[in-house]
Amino acid sequence: MKLRSIRDAQGLEGKTVLLRVAYDVALQKHGTGFVVAQDFRIRATIPTIQYLLKKKCRIVLLSWLKRPGGKVVEKYRMDPVARCLSGLLHKPVKKLDDCIGPKVFAEIQQLRPGQLLLLEIFRFYPQEEENDRRFAKLLVHGIDLIVFDAFGQAHRVHASTTGIQRYRPTYAGFLVERELNALSRISQNPKKPLVVVLGGAKISDKVAVLEQLVRLADRVLIGGGVANVFLKAQGIPIGESFVEDIFVDKARRKKVNFVRLAKKIYHQHGDKIVLPIDMLAASRVDQKAMKEVVPLGVGETIMPNWKFLDIGPATVKNFVREIQKSKTVFWNGPMGVFEIEAFAGGTKRIAQAIGRSKTVSILGGGDTERVVNEYRLEGKFDHVSTGGGASLEFLAGKTLPAIQSLFIK
Ligand code: AMP
Repeated sequence: MKLRSIRDAQGLEGKTVLLRVAYDVALQKHGTGFVVAQDFRIRATIPTIQYLLKKKCRIVLLSWLKRPGGKVVEKYRMDPVARCLSGLLHKPVKKLDDCIGPKVFAEIQQLRPGQLLLLEIFRFYPQEEENDRRFAKLLVHGIDLIVFDAFGQAHRVHASTTGIQRYRPTYAGFLVERELNALSRISQNPKKPLVVVLGGAKISDKVAVLEQLVRLADRVLIGGGVANVFLKAQGIPIGESFVEDIFVDKARRKKVNFVRLAKKIYHQHGDKIVLPIDMLAASRVDQKAMKEVVPLGVGETIMPNWKFLDIGPATVKNFVREIQKSKTVFWNGPMGVFEIEAFAGGTKRIAQAIGRSKTVSILGGGDTERVVNEYRLEGKFDHVSTGGGASLEFLAGKTLPAIQSLFIK
């Protein structure tokens, strides 16, 4: 199946294009307002914007930023994003205070070829998440065609993702193309050995991809809070470590016992799963807390009220050895509470090992961007995904509704 790309759009010159992007970026306070703290997700869409500018399109950008819950929240306005994008393009980007309505329509009508407008965040409207048809129709008022480049939201069935596509021809942008190409290098005939490194706090987000990847992968290295579930399943004391053992899936109205599930996965694929052999434990989640390395399964145990907050040095060595032997690595989720320096060692060492190796390296998940930034590893990986949830759903074999319709059958 071939993706319907903007390269396939006939007569694109001069058209008014709704460019759906996912600029959910971190902000930081600056004076009385905010500035964009990490522009990775904005920069990732520049090739698409440049292409549309070259075709003299009139570009109307539509994005989300935060979760205001269907009402206007002043601090979640898109103004810092417009300033950041304008800086990156060296071009004015006019930001509007709404995303629908007569004023927006009038502005779109006045756009000239090669000019850009950024609409206000659509999540000020509850109709967005309700996938309201009328709202979707209003979003494309005055628009000739849509370019979808919001890979990070491709798994959402909302008015601004799948809803708008009912009303205008839609094409995939270059970011979506890049993401699908990169993730397919893992899901379709990956270069072997394929090593998956899984960390982060919540196993509920990752269990579907874990079950899928454990079949494809040669090794699955498990760290972070996810490791705690597996350690608990092995009967290893984990003190007061964070562990997502029971998860209430409200949508499906059922309880999932992850400890039991981890036991089953380990039983079936124990030859592939590599668990930590030591952990860094601490008395508190605090830079100044007391810490010690606890070797696992040799009679030593964590103090009952302490927590595992990073993988230990022997585990790092083990994981690095597996990474060095690999031909493809997919990494999702930090190995510990990397936001605090005292517990960042494991994550940093794993990031550096992947960055230095010759393996095809693909990173997915919200925190990975921060890891790349913080450890100055830009350009060291083959692909850093802009979509945490979307990349996991894709790799778990689920269809991404906002992209599904963009394939030519
Ligand atoms: P996730 O969104 O599931 O990928 O989780 C990312 C978060 O996992 C980060 O904020 C880390 O601080 C956190 N994390 C990683 N390891 C641990 C751990 N051992 N205990 C508690 N939190 C952790």
